Amino acid sequence: MTATSEAGTAIDPRVQAFLTKQHGLFIDGATREAKGSRRIDVFDPATGEVAATVACADASDVDRAVASAKAAFDAGIWSGLPPVERERILLKFADLVEAHGEELAQLETINQGKSINIARMLDVGASLGYMRYYAGLATKITGQTLDVSIPLPPGTRYTAFTRREPVGVVAAISPWNFPMMIGLWKVMPALAAGCTVVLKPSEVTPLTSLRLAELAIEAGVPAGAFNLVTGDGATGAALVNHPDVAKVTFTGSTATGKAIARTAADRLLKTSLELGGKNPAIFLKDVALEQAVGGAIMGGFLNSGQVCAAASRLYVAREIFDDFLGALSQAVGGMAIGPGLDPASQVTPVVSALHRDKIIGHIEEARRAGARVVTGGDMPNRPGYYVRPTIIADTTNDMVICRQEVFGPVVTVMPFSDEEEAIRLANDTNMGLTASLWTNDLAKTMNIVPRLKAGTVWVNSHNMIDPNMPFGGYKESGIGRDFGTSALDSYTELKSVCIAT
Ligand code: NAD
Repeated sequence: MTATSEAGTAIDPRVQAFLTKQHGLFIDGATREAKGSRRIDVFDPATGEVAATVACADASDVDRAVASAKAAFDAGIWSGLPPVERERILLKFADLVEAHGEELAQLETINQGKSINIARMLDVGASLGYMRYYAGLATKITGQTLDVSIPLPPGTRYTAFTRREPVGVVAAISPWNFPMMIGLWKVMPALAAGCTVVLKPSEVTPLTSLRLAELAIEAGVPAGAFNLVTGDGATGAALVNHPDVAKVTFTGSTATGKAIARTAADRLLKTSLELGGKNPAIFLKDVALEQAVGGAIMGGFLNSGQVCAAASRLYVAREIFDDFLGALSQAVGGMAIGPGLDPASQVTPVVSALHRDKIIGHIEEARRAGARVVTGGDMPNRPGYYVRPTIIADTTNDMVICRQEVFGPVVTVMPFSDEEEAIRLANDTNMGLTASLWTNDLAKTMNIVPRLKAGTVWVNSHNMIDPNMPFGGYKESGIGRDFGTSALDSYTELKSVCIAT
């Protein structure tokens, strides 16, 4: 178990206490022992040591959690509250997350491996903005009044309007890269809309979500409105298969997303799927070298590349290609590798030994296919799950390294001759989560942006998200959008009411 940070960060005593707790499931407002006897070891990626253990919920545990959420929903103890009361409680929830921010950031770093700077700024900081945005929307759910043309018998009048009603029990399934933040991407709109929730975090990184459930109840979210089960893919599948679940909101790999979609098809279950990315960044020849290199590092290496939106395919105008590749390789080769709890670390461990080996496998496969590893490509000789930040050149778009998501600190860099070729290469993928374009030429920007097949296109930035900006994928990167006011709609049913008087 992690006792002290290797460098820089004094461990919060509450973190130590939380790690050693006998974690159960969070059902009906309290921690409950799982019926399933299997426990899951949770590792510290910086050391490879076990940091904590959690329960693995079986189908009967999932049943109990869904039953609690269903009973709470049917009784209207959450959806029946005045919206301003839901807003107040959700704002209090955000305040508690803020008050426990350092504790949550350290837990996230210890469990996920990420830099403590990122955990503080994004996992906690950005989540707070997101939480308050959705808390505020609880009081802004509206319908429309409708003029209708239904033929009227004499003396009759029709009044029609729409209502948005919470969909019911929401199963929220989250991945391991931003565990708390992405859990909140689901829990907050669901609760704001008046739904009740069963959250299942990734088995690799369940710790901050367990803490969140405690804080939600402390804030006043009623028992049964927010339940949590820890467990693996089988636990997630049991949740998706449960007949009392009205909607699944999932973030994770495209493969799992497809499996969920197949299950959902049988029951016509409502689903939102936020899946993988193989995202391009296009650098036109007018972009300043320093800006381009900084952008590529921010886009490609944030959280050691374990970002669904990450720029993993860099396309660079031939005129600046050699200079760009040279400067990027030098900058990336000099990045400080170290544990997330050391604020000076620029490249932190990846989440697990299994994932590290997958990333190394991708690099080896690229080498075999004839690509050139310009820098990195191996594991530093230290305990924990590290991969040296890697740049790969001499690729063609049909190579596996250019087609499959690596989800690690690995980018490919390819030249293009003109903008038409850049657009074609960027769109030559079965995914479409994000893309970025780097140029100061407005006319080219306005020509290229509409032609990039991606849910988010950044110009002169990458990886910038905001609660008010819808986020989701074209093609196999998903169905539906998180964020923004429209995401709230996906947690509601739209009911038309027509009254004859
Ligand atoms: P994953 O698909 O392996 O697991 C995600 C979650 O699904 C976990 O909680 C897992 O236990 C659960 N699960 C696994 N099998 C299941 C099944 N059959 N039924 C129901 N649940 C099941 O993904 P991961 O490895 O945890 O996360 C990395 C992936 O997530 C990457 O592909 C990344 O691009 C993607 N991601 C997407 C976004 C986005 O917003 N589009 C954000 C972050 C991560």
